[in-house]
Amino acid sequence: TPRVRFAPSPTGPLHIGGLRTALFNYLFAKSQGGDFILRIEDTDQNRFVEGAEDYIIESLNWCNIPYDEGPGKEGGFGPYRQSERKSLYKRYAMELVEKGKAYYAFDTAEKLNFHRKDHEAKGKTFIYNWHNRQKLDNSLSLTPEEVEKRIASGEDYVIRFLTPADQKLGLQDMIRGHMEIDTNILDDKVLFKSDGMPTYHLANIVDDHLMQITHVIRGEEWLPSLALHKQLYDAFGWEAPKFAHLPLIMKPVGKGKLSKRDGDKMGFPVFPLSWNDSQGYREAGYFPEAVVNFLALLGWNPGTEQEIFSLQELVDNFSLERVNKSGARFDPDKTKWYNHHYLQATDDATLAQMFEKELLKKGLSPDTQYTEHVVRLVKDRASFVSDFWELSDYFFEAPDSYSEKAVKKQWKEGTPEILKQLVSLLQELADFSSENVENRVKAWIGEQELSFGKVMPPLRLVIVGDMKGPHLFDIMAMIGKEESIARIEKALS
Ligand code: GLU
Repeated sequence: TPRVRFAPSPTGPLHIGGLRTALFNYLFAKSQGGDFILRIEDTDQNRFVEGAEDYIIESLNWCNIPYDEGPGKEGGFGPYRQSERKSLYKRYAMELVEKGKAYYAFDTAEKLNFHRKDHEAKGKTFIYNWHNRQKLDNSLSLTPEEVEKRIASGEDYVIRFLTPADQKLGLQDMIRGHMEIDTNILDDKVLFKSDGMPTYHLANIVDDHLMQITHVIRGEEWLPSLALHKQLYDAFGWEAPKFAHLPLIMKPVGKGKLSKRDGDKMGFPVFPLSWNDSQGYREAGYFPEAVVNFLALLGWNPGTEQEIFSLQELVDNFSLERVNKSGARFDPDKTKWYNHHYLQATDDATLAQMFEKELLKKGLSPDTQYTEHVVRLVKDRASFVSDFWELSDYFFEAPDSYSEKAVKKQWKEGTPEILKQLVSLLQELADFSSENVENRVKAWIGEQELSFGKVMPPLRLVIVGDMKGPHLFDIMAMIGKEESIARIEKALS
């Protein structure tokens, strides 16, 4: 059975690109009856951020895509934090040195910088490879005794992968197909450092091997590492997993990859949950089902017109063959459209409960049935629970001002007189149901030989404050006789 992993580095908030990677891994695993593993890649202590791991786990749980194995969920392949596996990596680095596939290098940062600058000045990029190696301070020209002496004397070193020259490397990706790479353009990447820590490349390959990962599904930004990773598997003599590099998520407009700044500028969140002062999808009022649904379609297509998918339907339909090669453009309007859909699909009682929290903050505590009724009347216009207040404030308090535009259009010379008479009519009604009020007002309009246009718009204006809202008699019945009359009288005073 397939085993896949999501392997984030806990260096900060989880961006939607990261969450999409997690989701695709989850969908692939579950569609194949496989396991979804969370591995925390925290070998770079300088970039470690406190709390980031909890945030990642919380985000996965919020999306309802929990991992089968990972921190706190032992599955026989732990520990699942690379910092806790530290002692394991050195012998693999040594194994490659012994096999002649890797070597020690003693270059100082100053020396490497010098070469980089020197190349830049000539308009070239410095590559640590066959072409430059002889100018550099590595063990390829040293005897084993000399190497040992330098290490023993406490000199800083790294272990680098020895990239062969003049080879064409064939690479296979489940999404991109076959690729060929000339090894002459590859760096001898650092695998291990004298502080005892492996780099991402070594730890990642060793762990994928030890954890028996069958498929590596990750973002396109890792595609340039594939050549090295493939060579590492070969050097160890291990079977490589299959690779699938997911397309980038692109800005809503223009070129380039979606970033936090796009989100800030255009008013949509890029993080699944809030982190420090950045707003997340949860805080912005998104339903996790909506986030999962729109994320799934960022790069994957079902091959049909279907856009709404529950998590189970995604599991049932997902396949890597239907993941696109080209970048997936992020569309903030579409994400809102998804939320609109999932809000409509949420039952009124639940929505009312959510809305009540906002009402409480405003010092209002109407009874639950009332709030639920309001929700039923306005929800089709709402994409977020936070839209409810603007759509329904007049159900909870009298308007404190009237729309100027509406006043200009609807408030005519005869309006005060008409409203005064309406008050007398309403006062006599014992049954203030929507139907009865409607019947009586309509009958009265007929008797008085008035037109609807003279009565209904100004009445709506004084009850609601604007020309908006559902059926007016429903509103009046809800706020009740006293309040309806009070609002008309307030407007007349
Ligand atoms: N630690 C890497 C990251 O932060 C993992 C990349 C991979 O999946 O190989 O995304």
